[in-house]
Amino acid sequence: MQVLVIGAGVVGLAVARAAALAGHDVIVAEKADAIGTGISSRNSEVIHAGMYYPTGSRRAKLCPRGNRMLYDFCETHGVPHRRCGKFIVATNEAEHSRIEAIQAQGRINGVEGLELIGGNAARDLEPELSCIAALVSPDTGIIDGHGYMLALQGDIEAHGGAIAFETPVERLTPTLHGWRVTFGGREPGHLDVDAVVNCAGLSAQTVARAIEGYPLTRIPKQVLAKGNYFAYAGRPVFTRLIYPTPVDGGLGVHVTLDLAGRMRFGPDVEWIDHEGYDVDPSRAASFYARIRTYWPGLPDGSLVPDYAGVRPKLTGPGEPAADFMVDGPANHGMPGIVNLFGIESPGLTSSLPLADDVVALLTA
Ligand SMILES: Cc1cc2nc3c(=O)[nH]c(=O)nc-3n(C[C@H](O)[C@H](O)[C@H](O)COP(=O)(O)OP(=O)(O)OC[C@H]3O[C@@H](n4cnc5c(N)ncnc54)[C@H](O)[C@@H]3O)c2cc1C
Repeated sequence: MQVLVIGAGVVGLAVARAAALAGHDVIVAEKADAIGTGISSRNSEVIHAGMYYPTGSRRAKLCPRGNRMLYDFCETHGVPHRRCGKFIVATNEAEHSRIEAIQAQGRINGVEGLELIGGNAARDLEPELSCIAALVSPDTGIIDGHGYMLALQGDIEAHGGAIAFETPVERLTPTLHGWRVTFGGREPGHLDVDAVVNCAGLSAQTVARAIEGYPLTRIPKQVLAKGNYFAYAGRPVFTRLIYPTPVDGGLGVHVTLDLAGRMRFGPDVEWIDHEGYDVDPSRAASFYARIRTYWPGLPDGSLVPDYAGVRPKLTGPGEPAADFMVDGPANHGMPGIVNLFGIESPGLTSSLPLADDVVALLTA
């Protein structure tokens, strides 16, 4: 089949790679002039283990599998990464019950190696930490996200696929055997393909609305939640990722490390109406308060506004978190179309098995 993938973020690239490996003729249309300029360049670059997600959800199934597949991929493709491990910390009795529940959910989800340790044991490993207990996740790690996307691009091209940059998809019209894709950009035109996968991230709903005859009732609402990060202007004090217990809309302001060992904090949850990436310095006050619950030694004046990412959510504040939405022909009745909506965290971690599932839908 000739398959067009819309979007060269981590998900679109993983889908295109899986399709190319399965023997399809693949083109990725990307409106920007480079890979990974969207959500995929503005995240925590954490390889999640998968213990948070409710039983039976796509995220519960994909994340633990994606974790294992991603480490294997990194090994075989030379992608920089580190299995640094993570603590989810409890600073009071209520949070202790929460981390016990997370451990139980992790076991159900098939996450291996989860262990509850006491505050003293946690401090032996991370002396700056203040907590009464910690859930240890040894298989959580960090990855060079851009290096991962470059490796996906390499596999796509090695299997005959190609990425067309500066190629915004504007309209999809049904033909006798597939779809006519109309694109704008520097060299506007159209292309006839057998199947289309919409991996347009924050623009997924806009692209779905551009599919002629697509049932509008199958296009979910989009809710945007900005995640702000602050960099730490001192020497890192932790060697593992440190997470508080989750909050509404996110995993809580946590310690993230990059592969150079730098330490930063975030992302928080800021519900927004329009896409935007400025980091309001006044949000630092709430960061100090939240971080000091588990790191009382955080010095005044040490947090510097860094960057922000935007989560493509399907539900808003106070509503239950939505799962990834993967709509194929069985859901919407249009052959040769797969739409992906709401691929927020852990989309990076889940990208490889998610891609396999999507490619299976193309021939189902
Ligand atoms: C703050 C934050 C932190 C996160 N942290 C983690 C983490 O630590 N671990 C993890 O596993 N996940 C994390 N995630 C989730 C992860 O980053 C995303 O799930 C993933 O990057 C989504 O990739 P994507 O390819 O769907 O979207 P994108 O990367 O946004 O790619 C979509 C692409 O489509 C292109 N496009 C849009 N419209 C068109 C069009 N009409 N024509 C052609 N191209 C188009 C865009 O230019 C873009 O390049 C985080 C997300 C956020 C927001």
